[in-house]
Parts: sequence; structure tokens; C-alpha cells
Amino acid sequence: MTVALGIDVGSTTCKVVAVDARGGIVTSRLEPAEPRLEEQASRMLAAVSAEVDGDGDAPAVATGYGRRLARGADRQVTEITCHARGVFGALGHGGTLVDIGGQDAKAIRIGDDGRPVDFAMNDKCAAGTGRFLEHTAARLGVEVPDLGARAVAAPAEETITSTCTVFAESEIISLIAKGADLDAIIRGLHRSLVGRIVAMARSVGVIPPVILSGGVALNGGVRAMMSESTGHPVVLPPDPQLMGAYGAALIAAEAA
Ligand code: ADP
Repeated sequence: MTVALGIDVGSTTCKVVAVDARGGIVTSRLEPAEPRLEEQASRMLAAVSAEVDGDGDAPAVATGYGRRLARGADRQVTEITCHARGVFGALGHGGTLVDIGGQDAKAIRIGDDGRPVDFAMNDKCAAGTGRFLEHTAARLGVEVPDLGARAVAAPAEETITSTCTVFAESEIISLIAKGADLDAIIRGLHRSLVGRIVAMARSVGVIPPVILSGGVALNGGVRAMMSESTGHPVVLPPDPQLMGAYGAALIAAEAA
């Protein structure tokens, strides 16, 4: 039986999760973000509610950058609180959580009781987010889901020095013109992204295990380099892209 719903209105994707009384995921939906986020949030909440919430009275919490647009939710809770709650609910332990989404990234130190102890966020610069890889993948003619495996298997690594997505693209163009190996460029791009992310994580303290969430957690190259760079194992919750919505649903269930 569904007891609560959570919606994460992200900058790149919109996610809805329904949980039962034991905190198990009953159903979920994920769609690319549409220009009319408000309509999309209402439609997705209504669809999940019609699917699993017989009486239509399950409480709902909204999170994410567009959380105020989710009119069907009973209240809004910050992404930091929801991601920490979701990851703690899924894994049952704390650590340093790094969430890398499409247009922002955050590092959250989660205490042993599941509460966020400290956090840092980058929502100002695309270079430390999923957008960096998306943009450069498009330039290289590679699909985003294929990037990680190519970075891991690359026989060499090119150094990308630009600290900006736009300049990194110029750097890629000149590397290609010099005949550099495509996979070595891809590996260098991952190194650049992970360097930024790890610097942000260090600002809140890297307490193992390092936990990854958000859509970019699906990238095996980022996972491998995060582990290499921090010297700690990297743990992935099930459904890493749903952790914000899952945490929101757990908070809605607890409040009810
Ligand atoms: P937000 O919550 O900020 O809207 P998400 O957490 O949904 O963002 O993450 C979106 C990002 O995840 C995008 O940059 C996208 O390229 C990346 N992504 C999605 N699926 C994959 C995949 N299979 N492999 C690698 N990256 C992915």
C-alpha cells in the first residue's frame, strides 16, 4: 500500500517516487525536464497517484530546483535534506555523499544518524556538473551513457586544462586537430570533472565511504576516478538518480 509520494523537480530530469509503509519503493517515474515544469510536475504526480494511491490522499513532498512549481505537493523540502534522507534510507549508513546532476553538484557529509552535518554546492558553473560531459560528448559525437566505459578503457589520457565548459570545447577541437585519441580526450574530461567534484567534497570533509548519487553516478568512469582520487571505496545506492525523490517520499511518510 502506498503511503507517501516524493517529487524531485530537477533542472534536467523530473522524478516521482511512491513508497510503502516500510519505505520500499512501490513505483517511480523519471522524465527529461520539459519547459513547462509546473504542468509536468502536476501531470507526473497525478499519474503516479492514479497508479498506486487508491484514495488519492497520500501526502507528497517536493524537492529539487523547481520544487516550488510542484503545486500538487503538500510541502517543499530542500535538496540537501531530501538527498541525505534518501541515501540514508537506501543504504542505512552515513558518509560523504556526492550528488552530480545535470546542472548542479553537491557534497553532503551525512552523519551516523542520517542527518546532513555539512554541505557544499556548485550551481554556478557547468564545468563541475553533468552538463560538462553532455556538452563535450555532443562535440565528440559520443552518447552520454557510453562515455564512462570509454574513459575507463582509454589507453592514454589527455590533459584538459580549461576551467570552463566553453573553453574545454575549444581545447577538445585543438586536440582533435592534433590527432589526439578520442578516448584519451574523454578520459581527460572525466579527470577534469572529478577534480572539481573532489575539491568540493574535500571542503566538507571526505568521510568514507564516498557515496555517489544523481544521474552522473551512472557513469562508471566517474565512479572509478572518484575512488582513485579520494582513496576511498565508492558506494552507489540502488536507483541513484531517484535519491532526492525517494528522500522526499520518506519525509512525507514520516510526517504522515
Ligand atoms: P537533475 O536532478 O539535476 O535534473 P539528474 O540527477 O537527473 O539531474 O542527472 C542528469 C545528468 O545525468 C545528465 O547530465 C545526464 O547526462 C546524466 N546521465 C543520465 N543518465 C546517464 C547514464 N546512463 N550515464 C551517464 N550519465 C547519465
